[in-house]
Amino acid sequence: MGNVVTLDVGSDGILVATMNLPGRPMNVVGDELMAGIAEAMARLADPAVQGLVLTSGKADFCAGGDLDRMSKWSTPEEPFEMSMAMKRVLRQLETQGKPAVAALNGHALGGGLEIALAFHARFAIDDPRLKIGQPEVKLGLLPGGGGTVRLPRLVGIQQALQICAEGNDLTPQKALAMGLLAGLAKDRDDLMAQAKAWIVAHPKAQQPWDAPKFRFPGGDSRAPAVAQMFSIAPSIAAQKSWGNYPAVQHIMSSIFEGGLLDFEAACVVESRYFAACVMSQESKNIINTLWYQLNAIKKGASRPAGVPPSKVKKLGILGAGMMGAGIAYVSAKAGIDVVLLDTSQEAADKGKAYSQGLLDKAVKKGRSTAEKRDALLAKITPTTDYAKLDGCDLVIEAVFEDRAIKADVTKKAEAVIAPQAVFASNTSTLPITGLAQASARPKHFIGLHFFSPVDKMPLVEIIVGKDTGDETLARGFDYVLQIGKTPIVVNDSRGFYTSRVFGTYVMEGIAMLKEGVHPRSIEVAGLQAGMPMPPLALQDEVSLSLGLHVADQTKKDLAAEGKAYTEHPGMSVVRQLCEIGRIGKKAGKGFYDWADGDKQLWPELTKLYPVAAHQPGQRELIDRLMFAQANEAARCFEEKVLRSVADANVGSIFGWGFAPFHGGALQFINAMGAKAFVQRARELAAKHGPRFEPAAVVVRQAETGGRFIDG
Ligand code: NAD
Repeated sequence: MGNVVTLDVGSDGILVATMNLPGRPMNVVGDELMAGIAEAMARLADPAVQGLVLTSGKADFCAGGDLDRMSKWSTPEEPFEMSMAMKRVLRQLETQGKPAVAALNGHALGGGLEIALAFHARFAIDDPRLKIGQPEVKLGLLPGGGGTVRLPRLVGIQQALQICAEGNDLTPQKALAMGLLAGLAKDRDDLMAQAKAWIVAHPKAQQPWDAPKFRFPGGDSRAPAVAQMFSIAPSIAAQKSWGNYPAVQHIMSSIFEGGLLDFEAACVVESRYFAACVMSQESKNIINTLWYQLNAIKKGASRPAGVPPSKVKKLGILGAGMMGAGIAYVSAKAGIDVVLLDTSQEAADKGKAYSQGLLDKAVKKGRSTAEKRDALLAKITPTTDYAKLDGCDLVIEAVFEDRAIKADVTKKAEAVIAPQAVFASNTSTLPITGLAQASARPKHFIGLHFFSPVDKMPLVEIIVGKDTGDETLARGFDYVLQIGKTPIVVNDSRGFYTSRVFGTYVMEGIAMLKEGVHPRSIEVAGLQAGMPMPPLALQDEVSLSLGLHVADQTKKDLAAEGKAYTEHPGMSVVRQLCEIGRIGKKAGKGFYDWADGDKQLWPELTKLYPVAAHQPGQRELIDRLMFAQANEAARCFEEKVLRSVADANVGSIFGWGFAPFHGGALQFINAMGAKAFVQRARELAAKHGPRFEPAAVVVRQAETGGRFIDG
């Protein structure tokens, strides 16, 4: 145990305990670390020891709880006991009489911050990149190591609620301003010096909440202002989360109830809520996907092994429109030299100006400096000259969605770039294998499907064409990571994965309208289901004319291939609205009337699609919206458009905002169980049509007890 937390008593009589969990890149809270801290505390009994400074031997102080251990718990007693055991050590530490100071040399997050809160004072290095916070809520959890008990007593209930229920990090400066830190240090040496000086100056340390006349800063839960806040905070939270995130409610309850109780009782209440969060299906779903599967993706689970890692130094972008301009920005930001090409210098310059706009805003808000902005802009060369593409490791085309134009620019670029350079298309609908026919070297041709707006959306869908080589895929994958985005890898097929499944969500909403469901009920169902935007509003954003164009193109392509085309029942509505010019937000009118950044459901909509006398319940609508997506994702899995469960789940959340608390489109089925899914899908199919017939892969799972899992 000795090497988990090393102990060192200096000639000044101060014990320095350094956390350094072996074999891990970061310190994480678990039995080993807590035993090390307990051991450090035991040394304080030595009369020669004046006090304790806890710091870390790693870049971070402590990054949070050990999720691997959490995933093994199967009864609420286990998390309850673990959380109480941690708090017993920390409680003893803060009441043993001698001063103890936490020296935050790096991130103090989750359990890491909770440990620091049990120290009598905290100092941190004054680095804006250093993160302090309780992000547990983002994984559907609650700080179970005393965070919801100590924070309200230290910085007040309101600020504690924000820190715990929103989960956003604080910078050291902010933490200092709210009284969470005692001071800031220049560097590690200064940090240790200040921590030790505090110990010398406070030989008898006690926590504020152990002083006889302790009062919560800003009042406890009984104080009028706090009570008033608690009367509205749950409804504000529910308005945002539609009750889909129990952790938020549990955090509020723990802080509220803890604000009526003494310290010890509040600790027990917190542990009960912690256990409830750990046991919730929501946290299991989120941790499954946004922790394990996301980490697996980032570690390269979908990247061909054996290809050496690569980096793009020079990137060519063809088409400086909305997408090209965004791709140029994120790439230059990652330090890549970018050649941004369009048909006129004016258009190319306009593409570069997009970066200028974003950067000017960042400088104005103090998030960047003029030097950094200028350095980034210097990396983007706007041009019309193909010769400038010479030396590019990667070229991405983002010209109009037109096969002939795409073929033309592919040929022109390939005439200049090296034979082994990768050529990528950002097409949103055209199959990659077909586009690669214009290429002289289809092995080096790939799809890199970005999402709009490129600077905000975290996902890139990589599409592997029939002839795409492993090395090309690996290099595309490396580039996506290089620009700080998350890659998923899918096989070539109409609509790829994301557009195809996303489409089922909006089209289901539109089909409901046609059946006479009140448009407002449809929109509310989308939000209740946990989707970021309701279906009709979303179709307006994407534009109805684009939806129609894609459908018509698909029909034509399938006819050419001699295949049958089944139109979604919602498509006739899209066609009808397009015919009367209601093509979506860009025209100011679609399902909504859009004006001045505001929108209102078009009042005539219910005349065109009269509201039926019998209205289905919201549960039915929510199920239709979610089953349509999950079932289509399962079909993509079965057809091998999807290559992994992780890609399916992460892609659905990052690509089109599939309700994160379900853990993604396939985890939705896993969590429910294949049997229950098949049963409900068949009910929906009987009522609403064969599109709900459960995918064969799920039917097989229901029969054999299988689930979606990566090999
Ligand atoms: P856009 O119309 O904003 O930009 C296209 C740009 O390409 C224009 O600046 C145009 O001048 C330029 N261009 C046209 N022909 C050219 C040529 N021969 N040589 C060089 N430049 C040429 O379109 P966009 O929204 O940026 O879309 C570009 C591509 O990205 C399309 O294939 C589209 O399907 C795809 N895409 C779009 C989105 C989206 O949300 N808009 C999302 C993913 C993918």
